[in-house]
Amino acid sequence: MTMEVNKKMAKENIPTKATQEFRNFPMVPRVVYGKGSFDTLGDILMPKRKHSEAPMIYLVDDVFENADLINRIPNIFCDQIVLISAEEEPKTEQVDALVKMIREKYTEMPSGIIGIGGGTLLDLAKAVAIMLTNKGSASDYQGWDLVNKQAIYHVGIPTISGTGAEVSRTTVLMGPEKKLGINSDYTTFDQVLLDPDLTKGVSKEQWFYTGMDCFIHCIESLNGTFLNAFSQSYGEKSLELCKEVFLEDLEESDSREKLMMASWHGGMSIAYSQVGVAHAMSYGLGYVLGVKHGIGNCLVFQYLEEFYPEGVLLFNKMLKKHDIELPKGICANLSDGEMDTMITVAMGMEPLWENALGEDWKSTITPEKLKAIYQKI
Ligand code: NAD
Ligand code: ZN
Repeated sequence: MTMEVNKKMAKENIPTKATQEFRNFPMVPRVVYGKGSFDTLGDILMPKRKHSEAPMIYLVDDVFENADLINRIPNIFCDQIVLISAEEEPKTEQVDALVKMIREKYTEMPSGIIGIGGGTLLDLAKAVAIMLTNKGSASDYQGWDLVNKQAIYHVGIPTISGTGAEVSRTTVLMGPEKKLGINSDYTTFDQVLLDPDLTKGVSKEQWFYTGMDCFIHCIESLNGTFLNAFSQSYGEKSLELCKEVFLEDLEESDSREKLMMASWHGGMSIAYSQVGVAHAMSYGLGYVLGVKHGIGNCLVFQYLEEFYPEGVLLFNKMLKKHDIELPKGICANLSDGEMDTMITVAMGMEPLWENALGEDWKSTITPEKLKAIYQKI
């Protein structure tokens, strides 16, 4: 390893297989599950309210702007609902701006931050909760275990299933220099509310892309070198549920429930292992072209038969069954510089490669190889 890479890894505390062993991972301490469980939110939050001047701040996907869900939010005292677009993935500067807005508006620290939406809103809620108690910019904490102080109380309420962001100890942010998570023990939600009915309005394409994020988590975790019995048990359950949801003809409400649980288990599976090739390369697509996580994973995964032959076979069956056409020519007009950046970002995801291919991954993965795959996309 070069000096530069060593320094970079030390700065971000990048975990290797060795440092990953025997880690004491936080879990979500409280979770409520069930259709209609959203209406228990008021009761759940009440004991967490410090006083009437310390609000609950709801960060809500603006897709719900005129939906009935907004009226069901327990918006009392000086609580605030902030509608946020999930058009683009969350950015460190967006987190900093939200924290600034909250600090300027309220003299008291809020009682809690509640994220309602997909991975984008869940990650924003986690990051804002951390940055309300930690100094500086969210970009200072992109890496592993760089957060010093406990976040404020934060709650995650997914409205689309697949990312596992509801259960993970990371919040993935686009920063000025990199797309990387704030991975810390303080990132994990204090409370999660899983109400499968909230995922009702999701379009078929988005359902597929975010659902495939979960499927790919399973494949990458189960085929990785970091795998242990803990990750395997969750990964296998999640994969079984994904196969039911995407390959069988389930009744819609059954399918929604199962995908929500698949997402949870998939997230638990990667907690003690790692993701792999598709995620590393999808990060490159996201960084250079702004391609979103779910679709980015799909765009890459279709060309990974060399690494995940059975997974790609299943993936193709799922694409066909749901009549999904992936976009083409995404990388067709990239400049050499952009292609190089994409490759550098992907190759920088060292733990993912180490999980996928072992410590010796650099003997298989070269810039030329990644370029050849990107050129197909
Ligand atoms: P998303 O939050 O980006 O939302 C995708 C689209 O679905 C948006 O247009 C949104 O408005 C819409 N949507 C969400 N719920 C809806 C509903 N009920 N009805 C209609 N439309 C709805 O999607 P995502 O795939 O869940 O999240 C992607 C993000 O998650 C990325 O930023 C990625 O980096 C992050 N991620 C985080 C983790 C983690 O562990 N923290 C893991 C994987 C991905
Ligand atoms: Zn993912």
